[in-house]
Amino acid sequence: LEVVRSVEPRIADAIAKELHDQRESLKLIASENYASPAVLLAMGNWLSDKYAEGTIGRRFYAGCQNVDTVEAVAVEHAKALFGAEYAYVQPHSGIDANLVAYWAILADRVEVPYLKKFSKRQVNDLTDAEWAELRAAFGNQRMLGMSLDAGGHLTHGFRPNISGKMFDQRSYGVDPATGQIDYKALRDTAKEFKPLIIVGGYSAYPRKVNFATLREIADEVGATFMVDMAHFAGLVAGKVFTGDFNPIEHAHIVTTTTHKSLRGPRGGAVFAQESLASQVDRGCPMVLGGPLAHVMAAKAIAFAEARRPEFATYAQQIVTNSQALAEGLLKRGVQLVSGGTDNHLVLIDVHPFGLTGRQAEQALLDSGVVTNRNAIPNDPNGAWYTSGIRIGTPALTSRGLGAAEMDTIAELIHTVLSSTKPAEGSKAKFQLDESVSDSVSKQANELLAGFP
Ligand code: PLP
Repeated sequence: LEVVRSVEPRIADAIAKELHDQRESLKLIASENYASPAVLLAMGNWLSDKYAEGTIGRRFYAGCQNVDTVEAVAVEHAKALFGAEYAYVQPHSGIDANLVAYWAILADRVEVPYLKKFSKRQVNDLTDAEWAELRAAFGNQRMLGMSLDAGGHLTHGFRPNISGKMFDQRSYGVDPATGQIDYKALRDTAKEFKPLIIVGGYSAYPRKVNFATLREIADEVGATFMVDMAHFAGLVAGKVFTGDFNPIEHAHIVTTTTHKSLRGPRGGAVFAQESLASQVDRGCPMVLGGPLAHVMAAKAIAFAEARRPEFATYAQQIVTNSQALAEGLLKRGVQLVSGGTDNHLVLIDVHPFGLTGRQAEQALLDSGVVTNRNAIPNDPNGAWYTSGIRIGTPALTSRGLGAAEMDTIAELIHTVLSSTKPAEGSKAKFQLDESVSDSVSKQANELLAGFP
């Protein structure tokens, strides 16, 4: 840190403060974790200086032998970890992984007369008229994904994201009575809409998804089935989600981030059936530029770590903790979307406290509990203020907290939410006695002190 400080002290201070903040607060953001020192060190080094566009052994730059090794080892561990036929570890993030997958599916599925006729021709050789026809064929394809308020992600065809401009999107949601995916309604929508792609996966859905059923539906309507397992990749890697619930066994193509429950560096990856491999390999230059060799090195370390038996124990404990947290909240009268959880996250409905998600999020933060606000199904407060708080256990489980500590955390959350009063006419302002936030912060610190 002193080397960094000699150039720009404010950056050194921010790094040091980030470590302090992550140590001292209850990190309950469902998409965050603590990567190991080996992962962090593999990321901070000279590999960052190398350009290596292309694929293993086929680069557009000279001198890529070490990057080839790094990428090949990462792919080897990734395939073994997930039991995948093919893995692509270059995507810089989850959003990039999804874009790579979408283009791979489009290239595989969309009938473009000129590409068929001139399959040997380079795209650069197409005439302007041929090129226009190709673009028209790629545009306007259909995607069916989970609705945002049921827990879907912006990259699953929503307007604020480029995927919403690329695809004509329709959503599936949850049964209002159970808060769980309504598979019958999903099947009916798929039959009527006939999407090219069905996307499974989520950012804020607290239940298991039956990927075998989704694949059946995709086959019935001739769709390519993609799963974005960004949130729960650690639970797949740790063999908590198996059989019908393991996306690798059922989807044509699977994308992920590597930094959430999987506990690796910030980044993405794509897994696919062999038939899609050559299209996914074109991720660079279709969507990506030079791969981040230092991040691929850190992914290799994270995949290798996740292949160890202790990672399966960790993954199981994530869910045990999440269920203990849910039980602790339920027994204190807190309302949960779907009434509980099967995975790493719990979604609290804060409406009964008279609060918006925005108010609850800030009140918890003021008390040393870091969460994020989230829309809930049919949210009356929209995507900005929301009526939900999403909490997740991957990070605290990495620190070694167990079910008993989750009950204490449920008590702290309940104390804050029940002591927070909304300010008249505001969806953002609130009152919370400092004595309450100070006391909760102190208890959170004492709890964490046992798990340094
Ligand atoms: N997919 C899902 C399901 C996510 O939850 C996220 C991130 O929150 C992403 C994709 C995007 O990942 P990234 O932030 O790495 O682009």
